[in-house]
Amino acid sequence: MTVVDHPLAQHYLTVLRDRNTPTPRFREAARRLAYFLVAEATSDLPVSEKDIETPLESTIGHQLGKPVVVVAVFRAGLGLLDAAVELLPEARVGYAGVQRNEETAEPMEYYTRFPPMADARVLILEPMLATGGSLAWAVSKVKEKGARDVTAVCVVAAPAGVEVMEQEHPDVRIVTAALDRDLNHLFYIRPGLGDMGDRLFGTT
Ligand code: URA
Repeated sequence: MTVVDHPLAQHYLTVLRDRNTPTPRFREAARRLAYFLVAEATSDLPVSEKDIETPLESTIGHQLGKPVVVVAVFRAGLGLLDAAVELLPEARVGYAGVQRNEETAEPMEYYTRFPPMADARVLILEPMLATGGSLAWAVSKVKEKGARDVTAVCVVAAPAGVEVMEQEHPDVRIVTAALDRDLNHLFYIRPGLGDMGDRLFGTT
């Protein structure tokens, strides 16, 4: 697991945590934080050399050596998607619709749609890693589709979710802005930032 402790990332995380942050500012902070998280999640991507001409002379540049697929887990993952696609305009995008059963916290699938991903770095956007149920489910789904190089992009992770991922998918790297303390009885992360989907979309 990598905790992104860049001062700007921690600043935007604090904006997200603040209960007084209104929806427009929350969306903006989520998008800005996502740039840092996606940059870290792609920091070890292979590159290949490329001959180019600057206005002054020939030199060797670099280009991405592996395609990237971004998978947004509904709903909250949508809050990170714009930034991911902006940084990775060639990325193909998948969607994973999973709803948490409020009583058992078990994931219930309602929609999935994935591009080919066998040769790609797959970034799964799952901002709140709470029990780990949704993320473990999404990783199993992309692996069924052939994914072999998977990184989870989270805003906040809880120890319980990290443990589930270590048990079920030890090959998946987790990139997050924070490792928080624990979960409450409704499986919300503490101190957390509340319900990310509700705060992004203005629902309650
Ligand atoms: N999902 C959220 O949006 N927030 C939490 O704290 C846990 C899961």
